[in-house]
Amino acid sequence: MRNIIILLCCLSLLLCGGCRAAEPLSRDTVAFDTPCTVTLYDGGSEELLDACMKHLAQRDDLWSRTKTDSDVCAVNAQSGQWVTVDIATARLLRTAASLSSQTDGAFDITTLPLTRLWENAQTSGVAPSKEELDAALATVGYQQLTLNGNDVKLSGGSIDLGAIAKGYVADELRHILKEGGCTSAIISLGGNAVVIGEKPNGQPFHVGIADPRNDSELIATVAVRDCSVVTSGSYIRGYTVAGKRYSHILDPKTGQPVDNDLLSVTILCFSSVEADAMSTACFVMGFDKAKAFIEKTDGVEAVFVKADGSVVATAGVTFA
Ligand code: AMP
Ligand code: MG
Repeated sequence: MRNIIILLCCLSLLLCGGCRAAEPLSRDTVAFDTPCTVTLYDGGSEELLDACMKHLAQRDDLWSRTKTDSDVCAVNAQSGQWVTVDIATARLLRTAASLSSQTDGAFDITTLPLTRLWENAQTSGVAPSKEELDAALATVGYQQLTLNGNDVKLSGGSIDLGAIAKGYVADELRHILKEGGCTSAIISLGGNAVVIGEKPNGQPFHVGIADPRNDSELIATVAVRDCSVVTSGSYIRGYTVAGKRYSHILDPKTGQPVDNDLLSVTILCFSSVEADAMSTACFVMGFDKAKAFIEKTDGVEAVFVKADGSVVATAGVTFA
């Protein structure tokens, strides 16, 4: 958390550098278990910030996996039965299913039973057994989710929107801000940044990418206009079991925490929900597969930090 706050401060410094227009309006909150900041540089108002904060709180209530009256808890508690959810939840679940299919299941919202095993392992100090992993894996797979209008049925298992919800909400906040007349802004929800337009001085916004080996430092800075920048990496959260550190991102095919040739993946594209799902998926895929996937996907760029600390970007990335 401390490092995220330091990073946000670095980010605001980078973003403010060179602004000549009126003082930006900014608001902080905590939602989705992470510090969130919305900063408006042009065409904003306190009322728009109020609307953003209200929206964030509503979505957190709807998509938290720990708040007992959330849609996510309702679907999980009634796994195997039809549950009527909010129209926004149904839309998010459809988007999630399509991104799972696009990433060949590397991104999969049904990994919660695996996550629970690794959370328990952290408490007990013993990694999950093959039998436990196999039993959990039997319930994992985005195909387990059926949707009919606003009705949802999960055939066993449970869902967790942690790898996609912030991206979806960031896209919604961008819509609220643009509808309200804001033309220059940055929305920062943990590792998810969305920039609207450009800085008031006509320059691109600069977004820092944390060094996964020391996340109070930046390893690279990208220059972007009208873009989402979303990072997934093992340094952000994880489990420590018997002194060994494991990533919080799990391979839905094996149930194991990801341990490959990547330390982090940052995705750049317009849609924040796509960037969020793809950063998680690419982290699971490993460097070669992820780079090939991004290169064949239109309008999407990536910055990879490899296990040896090297930074590799796809052709369309502009560094600041
Ligand atoms: P992110 O930081 O966006 O990459 O999301 C990571 C979070 O998503 C984890 O903390 C888990 O709650 C969940 N998760 C873990 N592995 C996966 C996966 N392969 N696909 C989707 N969600 C996952
Ligand atoms: Mg994600």
